[in-house]
Amino acid sequence: MAQTIPVIPGPQVVPSAVCLKCDVCCRFPEQDSFLRPYFTEDEIRQAVTHGILSSSFPDHRGSQIKVVRHPNDEGFLCPAFDPITQHCRIYEVRPLDCQLYPFALMWNAQHERVVLGWDTLCPFLPEQAGEGNPFKRTAPQPSALTIPKAIMEQAQRVAIYLESDNVLNALAGHPRLVTPFQPDVVVLLNLDRLTANLRSSNRRNMP
Ligand code: SF4
Repeated sequence: MAQTIPVIPGPQVVPSAVCLKCDVCCRFPEQDSFLRPYFTEDEIRQAVTHGILSSSFPDHRGSQIKVVRHPNDEGFLCPAFDPITQHCRIYEVRPLDCQLYPFALMWNAQHERVVLGWDTLCPFLPEQAGEGNPFKRTAPQPSALTIPKAIMEQAQRVAIYLESDNVLNALAGHPRLVTPFQPDVVVLLNLDRLTANLRSSNRRNMP
C-alpha cells in the first residue's frame, strides 16, 4: 500500500486573509485543466470520508480530481471548494498538491531535474516583491526576478520537507505529483535528491 504523505509543517506561506480576497485557487478555466490537484490513494480516502463524492476521482489509486461547473460563473471549480464561503470544505485533509501551492513541484524545461517553483498566477509574490521588481511588470522574465528573502527561506524549508526520507519514499509512489514544466512557474530551487529518487524508482518499475 502507498505510504501516507505527512502534512507540511509550519504556517501556510500565503496568509489566509490574502487567499480569501483572491479568485485564483481552486477554480479552473477548463474542465481538463492540468492544474487540477492530484490526490494520492490515501488523500482520496480522506477526502471521501470528509464528504467528497468518490466519483470525483477517476482512479482511486491516485488521480486528479474531476472539477464541476461553477454554479454562477464561467469556468469550473474543485468540488471541495465552497463558492459562497470561499473555503475548502476539506481544508484539514487537503492533498499535498494543495498544501504546497503556490509552490509547485515540476520537471525543469529540459526534463532533467525536479525543481521547486512558484506559480506566478498567485498574486502574492508580485505584491511581496514591491515596486521596481520585475514581478510588477505584466510579463516577468523568470531569470530577471528578485525573489523576496522570506519566500526563499520558506522554499528552503519546503525543500527540506520534500526531500526528507518519509516524503521521498511516498512521492516515489506518486510520480504524477511532479508536473511537466510550466512556463508560468518561476524556478526557485533544484531538488536533486528527489530527482535521483524518482529516476531510480522509474528504472525499478521498467519492465
Ligand atoms: S482540495 Fe481544497 S484547497 Fe485543494 S483545490 Fe480543492 S478546494 Fe482548493
